Amino acid sequence: MTRRFGAATLLLLLTACGGDLDVDAISLANGMTAEILQERVERFTPARIDFDPSVLEPWEREVLSKLVDASDIMHEIFALQVSPENPEWAGRLAAYDGPGAAAAAELFRIMVGPWDRLEHDEPFLAVGPKPEGAGYYPPDLANEEFERWLGQNPGDREVFTGYFTLIRRDGAGLVAIPYSQAYAEQLERAATLLREAATLSQNASLTNYLNLRADAFLSDDYYASDLAWMELDSRIEPTIGPYEVYEDTRFGYKAAFESFITVADSAASARLQQLKDWLPRLEAALPVPDTYRNPSRSFESPIRVVDEVYTGGDTRAGVQTTAFNLPNDVRVHEQKGSKKVMLRNVARAKFDAILSPIGQTVLAQDMAGRIAFDPWFTNVVMHELAHGLGPTTITTASGERVSVNQVLRDQYSALEEAKADVVGLHSLTVLAEHGVYDAAFVEQAFLGHLADLFRAVRFGTSEAHGKANLIQFNWLREHNALTIDDATGRFVAQLSAVVEANRALAREILMIQANGVYDDAVAFVRHYGATVPPELEGALQRLSDVPVDIRPEYRVLDVRNAW
Ligand code: ZN
Repeated sequence: MTRRFGAATLLLLLTACGGDLDVDAISLANGMTAEILQERVERFTPARIDFDPSVLEPWEREVLSKLVDASDIMHEIFALQVSPENPEWAGRLAAYDGPGAAAAAELFRIMVGPWDRLEHDEPFLAVGPKPEGAGYYPPDLANEEFERWLGQNPGDREVFTGYFTLIRRDGAGLVAIPYSQAYAEQLERAATLLREAATLSQNASLTNYLNLRADAFLSDDYYASDLAWMELDSRIEPTIGPYEVYEDTRFGYKAAFESFITVADSAASARLQQLKDWLPRLEAALPVPDTYRNPSRSFESPIRVVDEVYTGGDTRAGVQTTAFNLPNDVRVHEQKGSKKVMLRNVARAKFDAILSPIGQTVLAQDMAGRIAFDPWFTNVVMHELAHGLGPTTITTASGERVSVNQVLRDQYSALEEAKADVVGLHSLTVLAEHGVYDAAFVEQAFLGHLADLFRAVRFGTSEAHGKANLIQFNWLREHNALTIDDATGRFVAQLSAVVEANRALAREILMIQANGVYDDAVAFVRHYGATVPPELEGALQRLSDVPVDIRPEYRVLDVRNAW
């Protein structure tokens, strides 16, 4: 396998360097035109991913530069995970000079392959449908064949279903190839870069993480380096390796390589710590009777606010990540919990390119004009903190302790996301009462959130976040907190009514969670979260010109040549 990947990579390099390999140009998928391709590219608006290099020590710049190179290797591996044929297709696409050639190349770059991630992986090049489970499994492998193999070879189960192996055919049988072998050439280069960065580092926790992660690339054992990642206490905060399993649409077993290279902002982190210190008092201020409070919740899960410097792999494909929660290894959760990382400058770029134009399109003009980044982002942070407020377990009639998640089942995620939104906003009003924020700042946070309702519903309402926002929209409409100006068709918020309705919704959802009656949850979600009313549908149609996401342009690539 290693040789095959090596040859494919070489082809990509030769083509990229203008080598005159004789390759057959690829063609567009049936029905695909230059216009459609261009429209699909323009859903992603270019956005500069900025950070402040002036705060960095010289050694930190050198470390960042190594990590940028290592991220490109993660990207190279991820492209092979999407499909081992990706390098060959990239070469053939470069040889294509027919209609839509430039747009096709750009879309290929955005999607990391020939399938459109915003169109249910529909192919835009003539390569056929995306295999289930991407490049992790043989494309012609039937699930039954995989299960039969595991039934006949029970000793294979652990490694075949593991995070860090590819499945390939081996004669008439199947074989699992560890990532460290399948991508040996790339991972050895990446490990060398991480070790060089570790040597340059003057921060012990960073050095430790980089060395352990370099070891993991070669051993496929990521446990020790995941623990070291939880202990990072460094301005440079890298997250690099195989993590999420979403690309494995077949079974969700296989982890995709990716990288987030970030720098922490000390002022933002201090403000965040201040908010976290308030959590016990915010729990005490939830709009529920005292018997339903949960004073024993722990508030220990670390949250970091950072600026993204560079990314690679899974996270660079398609829609850009603004926050992530890692690692996924439950053994690490048990020992150290997990860490939430919020990418402030990515959030800023999306705010400018998407949220602000949405507000300008759907909200009354004087309201849209007051939406600002800081209050909105504070509200996003509060959403994350609010996941840590409210009931987590209930006692059944038989005296058994069960989690809210277990009793509310398929209704839980949408309700929990809605809870985080409304409890977060409610908590901001509590903080304003204590003088942490002024009233105008909190009003601006509410206005930003109203624009966010439209942004979230745009992605569809079958998934938890979309449904959570639809619930809020319909609740606010029913409580006359959000009305329509007939002359302009824009939504007008009665802010004091919005604050009141939001508080009432917080109470409603918290009580559903506290009582844990599944049928109550079903009835509530059916009433508020099932129907997109015509006025919302109309507003969404007016948003068709607002981009769906951003195409990152990383400042570090411009500045690092001078380092
Ligand atoms: Zn959430």
